[in-house]
Amino acid sequence: MLIVMKADATESEIEAVARVITEMGLRPHVLPGAHRTAIGITGNQGPLDPTRFESMPGVAEAIRVTKPYKLITLDLRPEKTVVRLGDATIGGEELAIIAGPCAVESREQAFAVAEVVRRSGARFFRGGAFKPRTSPYAFQGLGEEGLKILAEVRQAYGLKIVTEALDEHGVDLIERYGDVIQVGARNMQNFSLLKRVGRSHLPVLLKRGMAATLDEWLLAAEYIMAEGNYNVILCERGIRTFAQHSRNTLDLAAVPAVRRISHLPVIVDPSHGTGKSYMVTPLARAAVAAGADGLMIEVHHHPELALSDGSQALTPAQYEQLVGEARAIYELLAPVSA
Ligand code: PEP
Ligand code: MN
Repeated sequence: MLIVMKADATESEIEAVARVITEMGLRPHVLPGAHRTAIGITGNQGPLDPTRFESMPGVAEAIRVTKPYKLITLDLRPEKTVVRLGDATIGGEELAIIAGPCAVESREQAFAVAEVVRRSGARFFRGGAFKPRTSPYAFQGLGEEGLKILAEVRQAYGLKIVTEALDEHGVDLIERYGDVIQVGARNMQNFSLLKRVGRSHLPVLLKRGMAATLDEWLLAAEYIMAEGNYNVILCERGIRTFAQHSRNTLDLAAVPAVRRISHLPVIVDPSHGTGKSYMVTPLARAAVAAGADGLMIEVHHHPELALSDGSQALTPAQYEQLVGEARAIYELLAPVSA
């Protein structure tokens, strides 16, 4: 059930509704919007009786939810969620650029790439300290040492740190050193991890699983929100298909498809989405044209020496050009989407 409050509902009227929900042994999710506050209810197995709420002061209507998701939907919040980290936003007016190496390899490497990212005007630095590698013999990341380097980058350049947690212990550590927790494609349905990040105070960047349908991806986001963390960013990163010309098939139709259902920001990762550096810029342009709120881009100052994903890493010069082009396209679209 979803309770829509009147535009002029008072704080205490909202609290009273939330209290009744809690007293019923259920969980209220109060989401203030631009024009009204809505309260999502989770924890109920069967349908609830709307008359219980409809007579309460300040309530405009109580709506039964028939879809599988309750909190990610535009029914709950008709305007887009803007994830804010200080003065940096994802889903706001600015195109969000999250860039950096696949993995943190050393202090020198991270700083060299961060310099480039900073110069481009991007607000977010990515880099894995814990890497989900197909082979157990491949470079697994520097672990906590990598997170300490990321924290230094944050300090030196003022960039917000986006980094992946492979497990719950990783979340504990990122809460200490980072700004946004990335849940990788391989972990999109790791439900205990989703619940753990749902209890974090940090925003979560949720990558689409490589064989996940739109509903599965959105329900993974729902897991996070149901625990009380409403700062979720969806990231399309390509899916497995029969295509051999690219590492994955970047599903840009996912962007408008998400937009039609959810208020959550959606960004695109054309690096993992293609696996080939020469495809990254064209697909980044297309992603922005398709309405993405941001881009996640892998950059390396020496792609040929990268310890992971070197073939999809852009050089600093290629990256700078991409950012300029992506911003130009975004500017062009701004009046249309506003
Ligand atoms: C990454 O961002 O480096 C990564 C491992 O991504 P994905 O989970 O999309 O494969
Ligand atoms: Mn990578």
